Amino acid sequence: MQLPKNVDYILKELNSKGHEGYIVGGCVRDYLMGKEPHDYDITTSALPEEVKAIFSHTADTGIQHGTVTVIIDKAGYEITTYRIDGEYKDNRHPEEVVFTDKLSGDLSRRDFTINAIAYNPHKGYVDLFNGRADIENKIIRGVGEPAKRFREDALRMMRAVRFSAQLDFSIEENTLNALKENASLIKNISIERIREEFFKLILSDHNERLDILLNSGMTEYFLPEILDKDIEYEKINTLSRDIVIRLAYIFYGIEAGMVNKIMKRLKADNKSIDAVTAIVKYADYEITDLYSVRKLKNLAGENVYSLIEVMGAVKNSSMNRELEMFKAVENDCCTLKELNLKGDDLIKEGIRGKAIGQALDKALDYVMKEPCNNLKEVLLKYIKGE
Ligand code: ATP
Ligand code: MG
Repeated sequence: MQLPKNVDYILKELNSKGHEGYIVGGCVRDYLMGKEPHDYDITTSALPEEVKAIFSHTADTGIQHGTVTVIIDKAGYEITTYRIDGEYKDNRHPEEVVFTDKLSGDLSRRDFTINAIAYNPHKGYVDLFNGRADIENKIIRGVGEPAKRFREDALRMMRAVRFSAQLDFSIEENTLNALKENASLIKNISIERIREEFFKLILSDHNERLDILLNSGMTEYFLPEILDKDIEYEKINTLSRDIVIRLAYIFYGIEAGMVNKIMKRLKADNKSIDAVTAIVKYADYEITDLYSVRKLKNLAGENVYSLIEVMGAVKNSSMNRELEMFKAVENDCCTLKELNLKGDDLIKEGIRGKAIGQALDKALDYVMKEPCNNLKEVLLKYIKGE
């Protein structure tokens, strides 16, 4: 395995100071699957203070978990001291973090066999739980006794399904049974962490695996609304890798007000909440003529192209005709901002209060019917009924 120069340097430095150092977790898994790792996590027998003494530039990013970030050439590398987790409270956090000088202890606390392989150029792979065989056979298998591991940290159940979808792996039987038996413990996990895993699943290439989630007994606790929906999982994989588009497709058919509530429950950001709600709300909008297209542009605002993609997916349509129509209205006025009539113009005409807004809306509708009317004089005449 060819390591990036800085990673190799860090491992050698640790070694030369009498410590062990390995890359571990996602990067080893990705490498064994023939994928370029996106970052390298390093695990070491050295204590955080020792790591800080060895490298000149470090940051205490996660010192309470034993993680020090070493900075080389402006890039950060997370180095974590071998750890065993102490007693767990509330199926969430270990009560204390206990350092160990044994790699085996550190690997045993990891969630799945595929994530529990360590490597360094000197010792090669340390694969105490046969993670390489599980990668080969595309299997997610808990390290140790899965039920116990899920009770320690219930988020691992979401992670199991998420990895299954990201990697297109199946969940080993014993692990899956343990997951189903302990599904209700997901209620002890914060919605932010559940959402993070759920969104990663949705953004994966294998939404067929959503089926595992829906049959797991976990969805009841954070998203019961999709349980009895007929979702074409495979279709999701073909959509843009955009959480707004994919969620809107999944929520299509649920009343827009409810969708808004769901998105708020998931504590999504405001922009996504509004976008998903708007797309579901207008997904059945009937596009007939150019006027209807301009109106839809007005209603959906910047979400309009995401909306068209979702419309196409629910209708099984290429949307070619509609896209042509959108192109045709590209430069037409569809918003008050683009309207060549402003509140001030109306005030000059003696119009006051609520009537101003009403007149502007009326003028905009007039222009959306006939774009060539977007001229101040024409609109003033129209408003005054001349
Ligand atoms: P990704 O590509 O999504 O980053 P990853 O395997 O690197 O995948 P991380 O969440 O970054 O996943 O975690 C790094 C490693 O830490 C994992 O590979 C695993 O060994 C361990 N780990 C992370 N979360 C848990 C957990 N909840 N329980 C046990 N081990 C965990
Ligand atoms: Mg990672």
